[in-house]
Formats: sequence, C-alpha cells, structure tokens
Amino acid sequence: MNTTKTNKLDLNLIKSHVLNALLMPTRIVLCARKTIAIIINDAGELIVRAPKNVSEKSICNFINQKANWIIKKRTELIKNNRPSLKLDGSNEHISLLGDEFKIILIESGRVKKVDNCIYIPKDNAHAKLKAYLMKFAKKYLSDRTKEIADYFNLKYKSVSIRSSTTRWGSCGYKNTINFTYKLIMCPIKVIDYIIIHELSHTIEKNHSAKFYARVSSMMPDYKVAEKWLKTNKSIIHVI
Ligand SMILES: [Zn+2]
Repeated sequence: MNTTKTNKLDLNLIKSHVLNALLMPTRIVLCARKTIAIIINDAGELIVRAPKNVSEKSICNFINQKANWIIKKRTELIKNNRPSLKLDGSNEHISLLGDEFKIILIESGRVKKVDNCIYIPKDNAHAKLKAYLMKFAKKYLSDRTKEIADYFNLKYKSVSIRSSTTRWGSCGYKNTINFTYKLIMCPIKVIDYIIIHELSHTIEKNHSAKFYARVSSMMPDYKVAEKWLKTNKSIIHVI
C-alpha cells in the first residue's frame, strides 16, 4: 500500500490565518525547498515559500513565530512608501535636491518655485509639473555631470534625460549617459552617487569589484547613498 500522503494543503486556510493575525495579504508559493522562508515585497504582500509536503500548521506556526519581524518590516515599508502625488489641492509636498516644497495649485500661469513652495496651474497639473521637472532635471543633471566628470577627468558622450520608472540612470556602450528626471527628487548626495556610478561605467562596463573600487575612490561613503536609494525607491513613482 502506498502510504505517501498526497499534498492537500489548504492555502486559503493559511491565507485567512495571516489576514486575521497580521492584517496583510499573503501569497504562498509551494516549491522544491527544505525550509519555510518569508519575505515582504514592495506591494506589502507577505510571500511565504514552503516545501510541498509541509502542513498548514507548520506554516501558520512559522508565521506566528516571525510575527514581530513581519510587523517591523511592514512598518518600515509603509514609512518608506511615498504615495504618488494626487495634485488635488490636499496638503502635498515634493522633494527637490533634498529640500521639501509645499505644492500650491493656482488658477493659471506657469509652474514656479518660490521659497519653499512650488506653484502649479490646476489644469493638467500632472503634465505641467512633469514638464517643469524634466526641464529642471535636464539643466541640473547635465551641469552636475560635466562638473563631476571634469573634476575626475572622465569623458562621456552625452547626457539625456528620460522618464524611466525602473532605473535612476544608465550608461550605454558608447558612453551615452541617461538619467530619469525623477532623480532630482533625491538628495544631492544621492544624485552625485548616481552620476558617479554612471560615469564609472564609462571605464568599467560592469558591476565588478574593480567598478566599485573606482566608485569608492570618488565617493568613499557611497554605500550611504545606496542604502538611501534602497529604502526610498518609491520616490521614483511620486510623479
Ligand atoms: Zn551600474
């Protein structure tokens, strides 16, 4: 007689357990592995990876044991999760080169930055703000890239500004450098790091130890900037 238990794991049971205990959505992935592992993804979902032959009880117990860690991680995630701008007249701010600007909607006119406020015409506000940021980014990032490249005696072909929501910058084989305009919503130090990172790719076309040694020679504490980008990556989706 074959005594192998067929796997009839009730995933919904586990999901409702997590939902009741931790109030968060869960995805359970059964795969060829020996232990249970959990992560929280950017969307705030709890992803549980478990061996195929595990019981509901072991999964639930594992989640219970990790509850404090899960709650802590999730709180961090919420804190770092900057919502997209609504531009609906509610109390909103935008960060530019590390400074916070209060957004004020106006009846007509042009987008303008005065003191700690940024004034945006109500009609088509998103498009107008984007166009303003694009222009601002073009000037700032082109000038700053030239400054840093000259200082370290590095050569590049051109700087273009895009609206990528997946990468802060890139460097092509012919040393054409691209940045997303969203980069100007980061602090100056972080912007400098991305510029230094892309300029380093004009010499090293990879992320080898040699590449990071070069980055480090130009910005010894570059890891601070990398850490900031890791915990603030949602800023790329603000507008
Ligand atoms: Zn790179």
